[in-house]
Amino acid sequence: MIRWRRARLTAAREESPTARTLVFEVPDWPGHLPGQHVDVRLTAPDGYTAQRSYSLATPEGVELTVEGLPDGEVSPYLVDELTVGDEIELRGPVGGWFVWRPAVTTPVLLVAGGSGIVPLMAMIRARRLAGGDTPFHLVYSLREPARRYYAAELDTPDPWLTITWVHTRLAPHRRITKDDLPGPGPDVFVCGPTGFVEAAADLLLDVGHDSARIRTERFGG
Ligand SMILES: Cc1cc2nc3c(=O)[nH]c(=O)nc-3n(C[C@H](O)[C@H](O)[C@H](O)COP(=O)(O)OP(=O)(O)OC[C@H]3O[C@@H](n4cnc5c(N)ncnc54)[C@H](O)[C@@H]3O)c2cc1C
Repeated sequence: MIRWRRARLTAAREESPTARTLVFEVPDWPGHLPGQHVDVRLTAPDGYTAQRSYSLATPEGVELTVEGLPDGEVSPYLVDELTVGDEIELRGPVGGWFVWRPAVTTPVLLVAGGSGIVPLMAMIRARRLAGGDTPFHLVYSLREPARRYYAAELDTPDPWLTITWVHTRLAPHRRITKDDLPGPGPDVFVCGPTGFVEAAADLLLDVGHDSARIRTERFGG
């Protein structure tokens, strides 16, 4: 059983007009692998609690990037109200399947829908730290360029990283298609809202990927 820990917000930065990256100090954090997530628990003064999962955005330290959903219960609080110095509770790391291990040198295909970029960015950052020759290809589907997270890192990608951008709300409006996806060979990680993940997984099978090498993480919605 993983225990709940107190986590203090030490820094926060705007990631897009609707998303914020939160940096926490967590005493005795055991470390984690890229792709893992934490459970966050908020407790109101009357004792009411709400719990949600958030992916770890970097292999080093506890950083979360949260998209504020206008009608959401937890995410608007994390994006708009939590202040440096405030404490929340979290537990983790959680998840052992949706992880990239730097010792594995097979090429990697990452397919992100919206905030699904978060655990995939942890993998990209871990790949950068690991060095070596492993090629990564990121297919990042999002509404429009202004909504992209981690712009400073993704606008000038490392030489081993290929990025295909898919903009769903920018003319010509379009969804991810088979033409955006490289063929079989790489290990594949897909993350985003449930509908996106299911559509992307179907397309990956259509272009010949082996289902046993496609790992998916669904954010809900
Ligand atoms: C393993 C895991 C990792 C996650 N990592 C992240 C992360 O790194 N960053 C992040 O922002 N979120 C992440 N999520 C989603 C997160 O847990 C919450 O579901 C999200 O923040 C909404 O919570 P809320 O309380 O604001 O909204 P709620 O009050 O729970 O829901 C409000 C409305 O939004 C819909 N909704 C919920 N999630 C989504 C979604 N992803 N897309 C579209 N609509 C949605 C609900 O169906 C509902 O209609 C992750 C989820 C899982 C399961």
